[in-house]
Amino acid sequence: MADPNLSGVLSGVLPFVIDAGPGRQAAIRGRLARMDDVVNGILGRHNYPDAMAKLAAEAVVLASCLASTMNYDGIFSLQAKGDGIVNTLLADVTTDGATRGYMSYDQDANLDHIDTDSNSSAPMMQLMGGGHLAFTVDQGKKGRYQGIVPIEAQAITDVALRYFRDSEQIDTALMLAADIQDDGWHATGLLLQRIPETGGNYDDVLPMSDVEEDIWHTACTMMATCERREMLDPALTPEMLVHRLFHELDARLLPWRMRRDECRCSSQRAEQIIASLSDDEKRDLANEHNQLVMSCEFCKSEWVWDVAPNNT
Ligand SMILES: [Zn+2]
Repeated sequence: MADPNLSGVLSGVLPFVIDAGPGRQAAIRGRLARMDDVVNGILGRHNYPDAMAKLAAEAVVLASCLASTMNYDGIFSLQAKGDGIVNTLLADVTTDGATRGYMSYDQDANLDHIDTDSNSSAPMMQLMGGGHLAFTVDQGKKGRYQGIVPIEAQAITDVALRYFRDSEQIDTALMLAADIQDDGWHATGLLLQRIPETGGNYDDVLPMSDVEEDIWHTACTMMATCERREMLDPALTPEMLVHRLFHELDARLLPWRMRRDECRCSSQRAEQIIASLSDDEKRDLANEHNQLVMSCEFCKSEWVWDVAPNNT
């Protein structure tokens, strides 16, 4: 088990809870995701312009935060589709922490009008135009769940918060910060979610008690004091940051969850795809050197096969 007391070397999510006092286990679940090395790994293989790279970094951090709030056996993915310069934004996280990200965009687009203020979030709506953001949990044969929200706010945090407000009806506070500095990318996310007290039936959510309401508002106020530079400071470990923000509420730290930069593609899977093609299909897809080239959009791995030319 890796040392959870990391400082910008490893990536992962630090879960914590804030209790509501006697008789209540936890009133708030918290997550602090520090994704520096995963984001550097992912963005290092792509050559996205900085404003787009920042959006990709925020998506990776958000996916990592949200995945850690869910109990699933499979893949959690965040996918945004738009009609703007960036048409696809993807980030996914497996149950055991393998994380990847990717975006596709119009490489000829003029980026002059795109906001590139390093002190603010990436301008998701400017980059993606109209579209939607989807969160999907895919558990294979055990089922699939998807939630969707339109992209109608500039920052991905606000798009995601609308999803939690309108679709999940879970009180949520979220901050994401990503920026490139002299030593590479830094990317941190901070999430708070109120855990509703339920009656016998899970759907039977009880109204918030005065104590819970007070704790929730205090936690949100404390979170709002967190500055971007603190979130992006590699010298402030996740533990230190959670302590600094929430020690008055006695935030309890839970075991660190590792995230790593790892793609799920494999030469075996590529072989399977090629094996499913007919000889004619292979020839249609081959280049002028009679080679069939397949590459992974996520990690840029490339596989090449020789295809027998059609001599008839
Ligand atoms: Zn790959």
